[in-house]
Amino acid sequence: YFVSFEGGDGVGKSTHVRLLGRWLGEVTGREVVTTREPGGTQLGAQLRQAVLHGEDMGPRAEALLYAADRAHHVATVVRPALGRGAIVVTDRYLDSSVAYQAGGRELSEDDVERLSLWATGGLLPDVTVLLDLDPAAGAARLSGTPDRLERAGEDFHRRTREAFLRRAAADPGRWLVVDASATRDDVQAQLRVDVAARLDL
Ligand code: C5P
Repeated sequence: YFVSFEGGDGVGKSTHVRLLGRWLGEVTGREVVTTREPGGTQLGAQLRQAVLHGEDMGPRAEALLYAADRAHHVATVVRPALGRGAIVVTDRYLDSSVAYQAGGRELSEDDVERLSLWATGGLLPDVTVLLDLDPAAGAARLSGTPDRLERAGEDFHRRTREAFLRRAAADPGRWLVVDASATRDDVQAQLRVDVAARLDL
């Protein structure tokens, strides 16, 4: 199985990827690979550094760097893992590009979607979890120095959230929308029930 987590900054994606990944390993007895975008590979870590902390760049350059990260991640981590029967859980995947580079940066949604599908050879997750939260609440949970994107402003993050919600509504067979304002344990419990039902565990 291939599971992706999506949502804004500070919604708890990395925590829930870790917790759900461990649980999926326990209940299925299978190998679980937890990973992330951008930065799930060595090349990806360099691309992540460039896009988040490097020189300012336009939306097209940004979109292409995310696409390059994803192409390499899928080819060298995700597909090999799925090929040997592992479960892959990723912190962000192509829907982040549609939400951030199209919704947020206002590139064409069609272009970003096609670029992403080209980068991945058309690989889509079996389940995509949207951890949905008001961007102001997400920002309040973040600590440390904000990266280039976290500084992008309220409107940017509002458009991104709306893009995620639109995509989820358009494809309910793939998406699971979870209210991320509940406590961590409640969100994780809800996730386990919903993901188990989706994957027929
Ligand atoms: O979730 P994570 O911390 O890995 O995301 C890193 C940053 O990159 C976040 O600020 C997120 O908003 C941004 N991002 C983006 N476009 C993507 C993926 C992430 O702007 N396609």
